[in-house]
Amino acid sequence: MESILKEGDRISIYPHFEGIDTSPLKGKKTMKEALLWKKEGEIVICLTCERRCKISEGELGFCKTRKNPKGTLWTLVYGEISSINLNPIEKKPFFHFYPGTFALTVGSWSCNFTCPWCQNYEISKYVYIGKGEYISPQDFIELMKRLNSQGTSISFNEPTLLLEYSIDLFKLAKKNGYYNTFVTNGYMTLDALKALYDAGLDGMNIDIKGNEEIVKKYCGAELNKVWKNAIEAKRMGIWVELTTLLIPGINDSEEDVKEIARRIINELGDETPWHITRYYPAYEFLNKVYIPPTPVKKLEWAVELAMSMGLKYVYLGNVPGHKYENTYCPSCKEALIKRYGFQILENLLKDSPKCPFCSLEMLNFMV
Ligand code: SF4
Ligand SMILES: [Zn+2]
Repeated sequence: MESILKEGDRISIYPHFEGIDTSPLKGKKTMKEALLWKKEGEIVICLTCERRCKISEGELGFCKTRKNPKGTLWTLVYGEISSINLNPIEKKPFFHFYPGTFALTVGSWSCNFTCPWCQNYEISKYVYIGKGEYISPQDFIELMKRLNSQGTSISFNEPTLLLEYSIDLFKLAKKNGYYNTFVTNGYMTLDALKALYDAGLDGMNIDIKGNEEIVKKYCGAELNKVWKNAIEAKRMGIWVELTTLLIPGINDSEEDVKEIARRIINELGDETPWHITRYYPAYEFLNKVYIPPTPVKKLEWAVELAMSMGLKYVYLGNVPGHKYENTYCPSCKEALIKRYGFQILENLLKDSPKCPFCSLEMLNFMV
């Protein structure tokens, strides 16, 4: 794969994308009327995400990416890109969705959650409108062609905040034969989810951050709304994988792990891939209270516990080279996709989603 982008998690772009000449794009406005809102008297209600902010004239919503200038709602971040990279789809993580392909991935600013452990806090906790670069949907497609990418991914910060941009981009990407993905906390409204699906959203990796109490306390959100969207997305036909960043003392008790595993089995199906990933100290869990990285043994314990409850595909993330990065056949237990980090070492399901050892049909793979 030839890439003009540098290696690394993410390329933060202010003041410039490294390796990409975006100078002809400079100066374009990223303000646009928002897609989903309604008016109640003098107040505008944003219907982009489940916070449903009530915004008075001249004010901003909770995430500071939506503004009511004069009785209407505007997004301030249409095409306002803070970060970009060409990532293996495994990095999202998606392990059963077009393995081995690359997605051109972008993010903007801010978040609608308040997680104090955010691993991308440099862009999610700040809103530097105008310090990013504007990339139009058309230019994004051109960039994908140049980079030999197979799809789009809106990620790094909460992609729901790029709703209007994602919709325009996804429609264009579909026309050009690309797939579209979201890496999200799953807190969009149902109307937003439907609009994304209609525009061509193919896959979502949704964070399940813990139990109801934890999500309320640390993220300022209602967990049931996340589950509702995960279920609805799957019902619509969107590919769904789940991720939980396992944080010592926060969401790593036996009951926490069991509760998530149970809900996945009961509400989404035991074939749903669940990525249990290693947390590293960041943001307030680095500076205010120090919570050390998740011990690998704890992650192994959680993966094994979830598997013992009947989940077929549980993966251990952020520990490159770990055996639980591989996909094993749920019947004969042979390794079918071997990985190292985000790299595919061997893929025995490349030609057909069928176990070559015991002939089990793997129904939950997009290959
Ligand atoms: S996107 Fe969510 S957090 Fe931001 S203004 Fe709208 S409802 Fe509020
Ligand atoms: Zn098998």
